[in-house]
Amino acid sequence: MPDASSDLRSPLTRRERLLVLTLAALAPLLVCVVICYYAAERNVRREAAIAANIIVSEVSAIVEVARSATFTVVPRADYPCEKLFPELTVTAATAPYVRSIIIIAGDVVTCSSARGKESIPLATLVPDIRRTPGGEWMALVGTTPVVPERQALIVGEPAAGGRTVAAVIDGRYLLDLMHAAAPLDMYRQVELRFAASPPLNGAELTTPLDERSLLVNTRKVLASGAFELRIYGLRERWREALVELILRNMPWAIALSALLVWLVWRLQNSRASRREQLLRGIRANEFHVEYQPLYGVSSGHCDGVEALLRWVRPGIGEVRPGEFIAAAEDEHVIVPLTQHLLKLIARDFATMNVPPGFHLSINLSPEHLSSEKLTDDVYALQEAVGKNRPQIIVEITERTLIKNTEQAQCNLEALRDRGVKVAIDDFGTGYCSLTYLERFPFDFLKIDRGFVLTIEPGTTRAVVLDAIIDLALSLDAQLVGEGVETMAQFDYLCARGVAFVQGHLYARAMTADAFAQWYRTLGSQPFPGATVTSAQ
Ligand code: C2E
Ligand code: CA
Ligand code: CA
Repeated sequence: MPDASSDLRSPLTRRERLLVLTLAALAPLLVCVVICYYAAERNVRREAAIAANIIVSEVSAIVEVARSATFTVVPRADYPCEKLFPELTVTAATAPYVRSIIIIAGDVVTCSSARGKESIPLATLVPDIRRTPGGEWMALVGTTPVVPERQALIVGEPAAGGRTVAAVIDGRYLLDLMHAAAPLDMYRQVELRFAASPPLNGAELTTPLDERSLLVNTRKVLASGAFELRIYGLRERWREALVELILRNMPWAIALSALLVWLVWRLQNSRASRREQLLRGIRANEFHVEYQPLYGVSSGHCDGVEALLRWVRPGIGEVRPGEFIAAAEDEHVIVPLTQHLLKLIARDFATMNVPPGFHLSINLSPEHLSSEKLTDDVYALQEAVGKNRPQIIVEITERTLIKNTEQAQCNLEALRDRGVKVAIDDFGTGYCSLTYLERFPFDFLKIDRGFVLTIEPGTTRAVVLDAIIDLALSLDAQLVGEGVETMAQFDYLCARGVAFVQGHLYARAMTADAFAQWYRTLGSQPFPGATVTSAQ
């Protein structure tokens, strides 16, 4: 028989495992960098928005203060300059932020708190303004005669006699406040724009501003007019914020990455070790087979056995078959495990004294049924047990049928040609469509224990069970009742033509030696207490 270990394929290659580990390590780090990238951008914009709020409200307050300063003069704006001059000087000197107050008549400045009476066309005094705007207004000018090197903001208020009273605010106040809130080592440029005038800004730029670095662009409307504030960001500042965020969050990302690597590694190892444990169990001969007797209703004695695999782990104890069979199926170890089972059966049957035609049932998994190795494996068992010529029966469940492949069908047909019989196990539990039953060749239907359990003392009719029995009989199959534990169940099944009965009531599964002894003494005995004979 083939060597079990030769068949063990790893679900992931060493390279794939390394790749999965690398991905697990890198994923949190990458996610961290991406989140920090967007967080840095958001933080820089939020900082700029806070600075913008401060600047806008402060500039608005300064403009309002200047406007209020003009109000004191407005009612007397048409007085001769000599009479008005002292009041202008005092007002300009006491109003915060205001450098001077001027009176404009038509487009000519007629009086100034700084220089007294004069007659200067507005355009000469403030070249940026040719004509006095109507109503309330404000304008940013690049230069004034008193302080030619500094920009100034002029806030004009209509006054008595068609004149205008205007307060001149030094641009330096505005610049200082802009740069206090938004320093130029944090931002590339901060600009205040009033109407179409050139902007008030503090940085001499050698390269043009990039619109993509615009962080804030906000507009505020006041009684004297509107102004706009723009703040442009520095790439270095964003980089700094990014590095700071990465440094702050990277330790967490590294910890997460380490945790993930550990979890993936453990998962890989536990899966690998499940395979490894099963494989080691085969090598260390930790598996053995137990045989559960099958009672033949018409013969009145034991007609066969079902071989059930057992795994007793040293120091751990017995592992439930449902558990290790499922693990072996998941890990693709089921084929080598079944090959091992067949070898164990062959060894046990070498000394087993059973008559020809004695039923020997073996459970097959879906993967093995669809495998090209199946027929050779079963033929090898047939060869090995040939001396006693037991009738080999392969048991397949409904879910095996549903997952059927052409190969599975070919295998079953080939096995039947060589005298092997087929039983459908756990019948009724797998939602198997009847078309599968018609397509697949089979000889026995094993009624699942769940249906047998519906028979209670005094039960005269178990609807689903009766339907299953009728179906099997109409398909010419012989029925096996599984998990029979009570006399009521036994009697009910026998009375309805079930050919074989298996269950704790008759006998539990036992080791090869125990079975050999049981068979010698009780195997040919009729079922104790059986009163109902077969309806067949
Ligand atoms: P199964 O093929 O339906 O096997 C019958 C199960 O019912 C066995 O459980 C048997 O011990 C249990 N049983 C028999 N009579 C009674 C009874 O009167 N009452 C109760 N409560 N249980 C009864 P076991 O040995 O634990 O096996 C469980 C399942 O594991 C099997 O169900 C089969 O699906 C799987 N299995 C066992 N051995 C093998 C094997 O060698 N190969 C494969 N592929 N599957 C196996
Ligand atoms: Ca079975
Ligand atoms: Ca079963």
